[in-house]
Amino acid sequence: MTDFIPVFEPVFTEKEKEYLNDCIETGWIGSNGQYIKKLEKDFSKYCNQQFGSCVSNGSAALDVAIRAMKDLYKWEDFSEIIIPSFNIISAAQSCIYNKLKPVFVDAEPNTWNIDTTKIEEQITPKTKAIVVVHIYGLPSDMEPIVEIAKKHNLKIIEDSAQAHGQSYRGKKCGSFGDVSTFSFFTNKHVTCGEGGIVLTSDKELLDKINYYKNLCFTSNKFVHNDLGWNYRMSNLQAAVACAQLENIDKTIAKKRELGSIYQNMLKDIPAKLSVDKTDYANNHYWIFGIVIDKNVPINAKQAIMKMREENIETRPFFYPMHNQPVFKELGILDNKKREISENIYEKGFYIPMGMNLTLTTLEFISEKIHNLFK
Ligand SMILES: *Cc1c(COP(=O)(O)O)cnc(C)c1O
Repeated sequence: MTDFIPVFEPVFTEKEKEYLNDCIETGWIGSNGQYIKKLEKDFSKYCNQQFGSCVSNGSAALDVAIRAMKDLYKWEDFSEIIIPSFNIISAAQSCIYNKLKPVFVDAEPNTWNIDTTKIEEQITPKTKAIVVVHIYGLPSDMEPIVEIAKKHNLKIIEDSAQAHGQSYRGKKCGSFGDVSTFSFFTNKHVTCGEGGIVLTSDKELLDKINYYKNLCFTSNKFVHNDLGWNYRMSNLQAAVACAQLENIDKTIAKKRELGSIYQNMLKDIPAKLSVDKTDYANNHYWIFGIVIDKNVPINAKQAIMKMREENIETRPFFYPMHNQPVFKELGILDNKKREISENIYEKGFYIPMGMNLTLTTLEFISEKIHNLFK
């Protein structure tokens, strides 16, 4: 039996240790340290936005971003927010917590991103914003999205939690949103275990974000006009994320190398693989996805189990938002199908993309994947 092959493993340089030691030696471990300021400055600059606000995770980033926008732009309760159905729950959940209504749009079958041709049919007079999510390593097709947003006077919330360092037609992901959010969870291209950041170029919005992430403190300390959670990040986390950001080009180069090896090894299986490039971007392989062809009598669940028997960890694709039991229970869904999201959930999974994978291990994984189809 081979050693367990995890779906992801982060890598660190000496820099993380150096910065962490600095925090400990100086005693600056809380949320007021220099690495927080450095990360806010460096990361916003990297993404061509003016301001950054560090938070405790990527879901918190979406939560304060959506809350701040609702407040600043005076969106009424139950205003509608367009969200891709093929997505993690964070954005839709934040809408509900903030008394907004998520409206789900199906995915595009090749890139698995939001199908931009299906956005307009979901827009109503109540629609206020589009949440764009760059899924699994390829950006969403931003040009039509920006056009639709302009035409209907909608804000763009750019969830770039899987797109650190990725670009769309040469422009950085995270630079398109009126507000953009990132996660620094363990398996993201820049990580500090848990963490996140909100970016914007609107100072008023930034002030609201900083207010809502910090217990709604006012200058009159301990006197509160609103309720809000503590979503602050620690300087220890920021120290690690700063070091990771310095290494991002190497991280992406390595992931692209792994991605292209997999493309070659797996090109003959009866499945759709992560798309290597489109006319607007090269995949940066946050993950490497496989969607088994419809006519093959095995689904993702079975594939994941078989791979697990070989000690290889793989993960299922997102479960579509428009089928979530919790949203059914809340009565916020329509009865329409979104067939692409449903199919890629049923047939899709992703395979190990750890930064330390060797060629021998990749060959082993490839062999076991081929066996799924025998
Ligand atoms: C990871 C992720 C999040 C959530 O980030 P956390 O830090 O885990 O809360 C949100 N959106 C997308 C697209 C993600 O991939």
